[in-house]
Amino acid sequence: MTNEQKMKIAAMRDDGYSYVDIANEIGVSEGTVKSYCRRNGLMRKRTNAEKQDIRHCLFCGKEVIQNPGRKEKKFCSDTCRSKYWNKHLAEVNRKSMRTYECAYCHKPFKAYESAGRKYCCHECYIEDRFGGEYR
Ligand SMILES: [Zn+2]
Ligand SMILES: [Zn+2]
Repeated sequence: MTNEQKMKIAAMRDDGYSYVDIANEIGVSEGTVKSYCRRNGLMRKRTNAEKQDIRHCLFCGKEVIQNPGRKEKKFCSDTCRSKYWNKHLAEVNRKSMRTYECAYCHKPFKAYESAGRKYCCHECYIEDRFGGEYR
């Protein structure tokens, strides 16, 4: 093969062409192109790079084009980012829900861990604290 052909292989490989396409283009057999590429480590660079460069917005699923060398962008817009985090926080809060036993009626009830509730309802709280006194 001529240097020109070799350069063409490298360039086409870079653009993501298949062995057959390259073979047809420069007029050599597919096997020649294949073994030349293998020997010289000419992979389909661009298609792989393309795959890496496109993320899908974590909120709406729209494609997010990445800026090479910059921090990975996970969202297509600031709106999607804040919506996503609001939703995410709501999920985190839901997970921190625990089942407690009411200190007055001993019925189980669910509450956020951070709320620190001891009673299933306000009535139980009043009854337990002031029961009798205000009856
Ligand atoms: Zn989005
Ligand atoms: Zn209760």
